[in-house]
Amino acid sequence: MRYRALGRTGLQISELGFGASPLGAVYGAFARQDGVATVHAALESGINFFDVSPYYGATSAESVLGAALHGIERSTYVLATKVGRYGDTEFDFSAERVKRSVHESLRRLGTDHLDLAQCHDIEFGDLDRIIEETLPALRELQDAGTVRLIGVTGYPLPALAYVAQRADIDTIMSYCQYTLQDRRLAAWRERFAERGVGILNASPLAMGALTSRGAPPWHPASASVLERCAAAAALCRERGADLAKLALQYSVSGGGFSSTVVGSADPANVHRNVRWIGEPIDQSLLADVESCLASVREQGWINGRAENQQPGGEP
Ligand code: NAD
Repeated sequence: MRYRALGRTGLQISELGFGASPLGAVYGAFARQDGVATVHAALESGINFFDVSPYYGATSAESVLGAALHGIERSTYVLATKVGRYGDTEFDFSAERVKRSVHESLRRLGTDHLDLAQCHDIEFGDLDRIIEETLPALRELQDAGTVRLIGVTGYPLPALAYVAQRADIDTIMSYCQYTLQDRRLAAWRERFAERGVGILNASPLAMGALTSRGAPPWHPASASVLERCAAAAALCRERGADLAKLALQYSVSGGGFSSTVVGSADPANVHRNVRWIGEPIDQSLLADVESCLASVREQGWINGRAENQQPGGEP
């Protein structure tokens, strides 16, 4: 496993990070002991960056992650969770709520400090309020030693850049935007790097769309995007290959990210993912998959609704 600087923070995190949303059964039911075993497989493979949120599984992902990390030397992993999002339509970025939220998360995670506290899905809040109220509240927790670093997460890159330009933040987390299907994050990378902000590149498998199992029913991409992703999965199967492998290799090799964060509640996936990122990309398969996805490149969604135009424009 290779390790990279998390922005200017001095922390070194694994180039492959562990995304804990599947521990909240976001991608379907799983046995709790498998969830715990998945976290242990990640630690044993050298993954030291773990990302979760109280939103995932209505706090259950934090509880499973906390149980799995119980008894593990605290200095051996970098723990990130989020504040402000608590349900599909439930957001509260007030200072009072986010401070309480951090303390609730600490209890579930069984620790006395967070390495990273992130405002979750900022596009659903008032960005100026996040700058003027939410981030200063997290800074107070930082001054008290409860939180080491502060960041923001979300989907529209202009919203992440708006905050990064106006507030002193340590990290941004973008998702589904440095993948085989959508690479809009690449155009913003320099802008974040200039500000010394560590970039966390989440969802390299496009939230399951770039796997042979396919996207979950709640996936916000349009039917045409999902149809092309399914075609790419079929193309890989015909070649005796796995789209998930190509997708993960592609995202991790993108460069310039502190970590690429992939989710799973299955230890076998962790073992596969760690092995895959050490193998060379099949360039001929990559070229064919790129052609297969060409008609839906950079197509995403706005506030959870699919759209066929490129949202947010260029940096
Ligand atoms: P992902 O792209 O990592 O895909 C997860 C899906 O891929 C799961 O169904 C998982 O079982 C499957 N998978 C994993 N490894 C596989 C393999 N080897 N073969 C086949 N299938 C495999 O999507 P994600 O989990 O949603 O994103 C990663 C993490 O990033 C999340 O868990 C979360 O921590 C973070 N994230 C944050 C935000 C945000 O803050 N707004 C949004 C999205 C993701």
